[in-house]
Amino acid sequence: MSNRTLLLLFDVDGTLVDSAGSGSRSVRKAVEALHGDASVFDRVQFAGRTDMVIVSDALRLLGVEPLPERLEEVRLLYLAKLASELEAAGDRAKALPGVTDLLARLHVDPCFQTGILTGNWSDGARMKLSHCGIWHFFPFGAFGEDGPERERLVGPALERAGAWSGRSFRHEEVWVIGDTPLDVRCGIENGTRTLAVATGPYTRSQLERAGADIVIDAIDTATDLEAMLLDFH
Ligand SMILES: [Mg+2]
Repeated sequence: MSNRTLLLLFDVDGTLVDSAGSGSRSVRKAVEALHGDASVFDRVQFAGRTDMVIVSDALRLLGVEPLPERLEEVRLLYLAKLASELEAAGDRAKALPGVTDLLARLHVDPCFQTGILTGNWSDGARMKLSHCGIWHFFPFGAFGEDGPERERLVGPALERAGAWSGRSFRHEEVWVIGDTPLDVRCGIENGTRTLAVATGPYTRSQLERAGADIVIDAIDTATDLEAMLLDFH
């Protein structure tokens, strides 16, 4: 067994949780309430992208310039809608199978440190993960406020990991874990390892083609995931 500690940076939607559509419904409702039309979201890609960019795209399609104050207005209304959507979703918004068990094991294993790396605005990520009972496993993270593109979130995540743990992680000790080719690209561009899980909108072969170091079908069906990560060279 190695004496290294690996830093695992988890994406939220499709990787840790299935929010039963509450995230996308909330952002649609917020934009519809403020700008009168949410149909443009049919032409906006959600998976793997930051909330800021998703909303900016929608506003542009509506002919509205995505000024910072307009984005902030959407963010605040989105968070209010998300609270009620999550409450309405109840048990349908949940941690994906095997996730809670994995996080509980990692939490007490000195070989691993867990953090979040997500395009969700931080308050939205906290609400989704709290609803699913797994927020307390993540002492730090990088979120949608930290940069428009996912690639830019690794730097802040590493800084916070260092501040939290009092040690620095080399890039080959960092795993970016997500369910989309954009998560994989984010890891590759930052020189980290990448673990892709096919529990979101992308298939195993799409994630393999994106270049992930390891692809698994799902967290609950992966055999000895921790050993797979520790033994990877
Ligand atoms: Mg995702």
